[in-house]
Amino acid sequence: MKLATFEAGGAPELGVVQGDHIVPLNRAAPSLAIDMIDLIARWGRIEGEVRAIAGRAADSLALDGVRLLAPIRRPGKIMAIGLNYADHIEESGQPKPEHQIWFAKMSTAASGPFDPILIPKAPAYVDYEAEMVAVIGAGGRHIARADAARAVFGYCVGDDATERAWQLRTPQWVLGKSFDSHAPFGPWITTADEVPDPHGLAIRALVNGEPRQQSDTGKLVFDVWDQIEHLSRAMTLEPGDLIFTGTPGGVGAAMKPPQFLKAGDRVRIEIDGLGAIENPCVDEV
Ligand code: ZN
Repeated sequence: MKLATFEAGGAPELGVVQGDHIVPLNRAAPSLAIDMIDLIARWGRIEGEVRAIAGRAADSLALDGVRLLAPIRRPGKIMAIGLNYADHIEESGQPKPEHQIWFAKMSTAASGPFDPILIPKAPAYVDYEAEMVAVIGAGGRHIARADAARAVFGYCVGDDATERAWQLRTPQWVLGKSFDSHAPFGPWITTADEVPDPHGLAIRALVNGEPRQQSDTGKLVFDVWDQIEHLSRAMTLEPGDLIFTGTPGGVGAAMKPPQFLKAGDRVRIEIDGLGAIENPCVDEV
C-alpha cells in the first residue's frame, strides 16, 4: 500500500495512492487516525479498515489535483547515516568507517516531496544526497538484526540535502544537515509488505535532468537491518521515526569543479518501486 499525506483545498488528510488516484481515508472514517504517526502507531488495529476503504475506492481524487505533503509532517526523529556507500566514501576522501557514523537532521527540516529546497543567503553550498528512507513502525529498543525487518513500517525516497560549508567546518554535522526544507521525502510511504527486500533497488539523482547519482541500495555498507540494530542499542525507535540510509557517490561537492545547487535548479530523486520526489531550488528570502 502507498500511504500519503495530502492537501486538497483544506486541512491535511491521509490517503491511499492507487495508480493516478488517491483514496482519502479521513473522509470515510474521520476517527481512523489524526495523522500519519497516529496511523502507524495504530496500524495493527486499523490495517483491515484502511484496506477496506482503499478497496471501495469511493470519493477517490485525481493524484495530480492534490498537493502531496511530507508523509510525516513532523517526524519525532530523523536519523541519518554518513559514509555508507563505498563510492561515496572514496569521493569524500575518507577511510571506510569502522563504526556506523550517525547524525540527526532536526525534524523542522522535514519537507514535502515537491516542495522547494531553500538556498540560504550567500555564501551557500547546498548539495543533494539521494537516499532511501526507512520509516519505523512499532519500533522499540534493542532490536536484533533478525527482527529488524519487522520494525520497519515502510520506505520512502529522500534527499539528505546538506549545506556543505556548515557541515564540514565543524566536527559535528547537525547544523549543516538541518537547514529548513533540507529533508524532503515521499512521495508517499510504500508499506514494507510491498518491498520484500529493500536492498537492491535502483536509486538515482538528477539535477536539471542530468544524471548525477546512480546506484542501488544493495550497495549499502551497513544495510538497513544493521542500522536498526545499531541505532536501537542507543535509543528507542518510535512509530514514524525516519532513517536516512546513506547516499551513493556522485554528490555535487565531489564534482570537478564542485557544483552546488542554486535557485532555478530542480533536483529529482528516484528509487525503483518507491516513486520519485522533485524539488525546485529557490533563494530563501
Ligand atoms: Zn546522507
